[in-house]
Amino acid sequence: MTTAPHYNRLALIGSGLIGSSIARAARAQGAARSIVATARSPETRRRVAELGIADQVAESNAAAVDGADLVIVCIPVGMSGAVAKEIGPHLTPGAVVSDVGSVKASIMRDMAPHIPKGVHFIPAHPVAGTEYSGPDAGFAELFVNRWCILTPPEGADATQVERLAAFWTALGANVETMSAEHHDLVLAVTSHLPHLIAYTIVGTADELGAVTRSEVMKFSAGGFRDFTRIASSDPTMWRDIFLANKDAVLEMLGRFNEDVAGLTRAIRRGDGEALFNLFTRARAIRRGVVEIGQDSPAPDFGRPHPDLPQEPLPKPYAEET
Ligand code: NAP
Repeated sequence: MTTAPHYNRLALIGSGLIGSSIARAARAQGAARSIVATARSPETRRRVAELGIADQVAESNAAAVDGADLVIVCIPVGMSGAVAKEIGPHLTPGAVVSDVGSVKASIMRDMAPHIPKGVHFIPAHPVAGTEYSGPDAGFAELFVNRWCILTPPEGADATQVERLAAFWTALGANVETMSAEHHDLVLAVTSHLPHLIAYTIVGTADELGAVTRSEVMKFSAGGFRDFTRIASSDPTMWRDIFLANKDAVLEMLGRFNEDVAGLTRAIRRGDGEALFNLFTRARAIRRGVVEIGQDSPAPDFGRPHPDLPQEPLPKPYAEET
């Protein structure tokens, strides 16, 4: 245990990548005295019990929140309203209810009406993840040096917001607070639009008649491979995100389409200077991301993969020995 417990009883509704990572991290850091987890299906609940990542596995959402002073809803955003309605009558007065959804305004709209007076509702979004899902995909270090954005509604109890922030800090995250609307705009450009572009490019490549599917896969290290990783994220989760953050995504998509039209014009006119200037700005942003520790500077395109057989390079590429 590396920290004093911030909560007595942590209830996790949903035990996928994010829920199971919170369970693992909270246990590793001693951030809650006990952890109860649940999931929709008996299979996932059984798996969580087998993994032993929670002290207790509850059979229903209502049973999970019983006596909990922190409840974190870790399910696809489209289900959050229904789940809030289900747990509302069973919440303990004084408890904090939070979530991890990638969209925040719709979470406020859907969940808040079901949270009883005397229970503190403080939505959150840990900006950390992978393309994998389910309880086996989680790991305790997922949130280390990643941001967790809290979007407390107006009038939220400042002490409870600080307490939740301290919980996320104990899990390794850096915490920032902003409005739900601002969160949705920022994430539309940093997360939602990149995923939409990745889904589009992979779909376009798949439908390209003149280039075979096997060629697309074979030569993917040219850049396409990185889009396939992003585009392999959970379809339910991403369907819900685009439906829930419609306005901000459409706004960003509009700007993106204008920029693509500008690039198209530059290519058509042979305007190398416009291309060079844009690529130079983009490169500076990449350097900035690395400088603030949000990615590693290790070479990536064509990186050697630990699972792939490492054949010695033929001459003249191999170093002379
Ligand atoms: P996931 O791995 O697919 O897990 C989802 C979990 O929710 C599963 O345990 C599922 O149970 C459970 N669930 C679904 N409906 C439920 C219900 N009605 N009652 C109780 N449990 C229910 O998903 P995830 O990646 O952890 O994502 C969860 C949330 O985190 C989403 O809102 C997403 O926007 C947000 N988020 C994700 C990432 C990411 O990179 N993945 C990053 C930040 C935030 P079953 O297995 O039984 O179906």
